[in-house]
Amino acid sequence: MAEVKVLVVGRHQVADDKLIIGATVTLIKTDKNIIVDPGYLPDQEEVLLELAKNNLKPADIDIVCLTHLHLDHTSNVALFNKARIYCKLKADYPGQYHVPTERYLKRVDIKDGLKLAKDVEFLLTPGHTEDHISLLVTTAQGKIIIAGDAIATASLADLDKKPLLFNDLKAYELSRQKILKLADFIIPGHGCMFKVPLAGR
Ligand SMILES: [Zn+2]
Repeated sequence: MAEVKVLVVGRHQVADDKLIIGATVTLIKTDKNIIVDPGYLPDQEEVLLELAKNNLKPADIDIVCLTHLHLDHTSNVALFNKARIYCKLKADYPGQYHVPTERYLKRVDIKDGLKLAKDVEFLLTPGHTEDHISLLVTTAQGKIIIAGDAIATASLADLDKKPLLFNDLKAYELSRQKILKLADFIIPGHGCMFKVPLAGR
């Protein structure tokens, strides 16, 4: 079964009126090596170091999946120049992947249940942005959803807490409920993996 490892724990904290950020970077090992959200430029060395601890180089990564196109989640994408890179772009646009080594771009219909690799499938989770996607991974521990900013921090597993940033609050709420219902564990856009509280279901 697939294995999931958080490589970089993304930050999200207010200090002196500044928002200090960095996205969580996650590795999925299955029949492909997958990175979900390659993360923020200031965390580049940490990404490389953590990959090395897992005996991987950037060229060993087959697929990069961008949950959405905010800079803190995406700016290390150029490290993975051998990977196929997936993103969605807009709500009404099906989605696409790039193969930079071949200068190649193809549309792909990213939708709920579309398989990305063994034990890994897409989940549409709009609301934070209109094109936000998450990944559902089946592991020996249970279902892990790598949620990006559909659940940006563990505190947002509490349905009474409102997100700071959203494109469509109604869509956000539906996506959040969908994730809480399906997942045993969630990897948020910022922070460590956590177990889904039963109260969230
Ligand atoms: Zn974001």
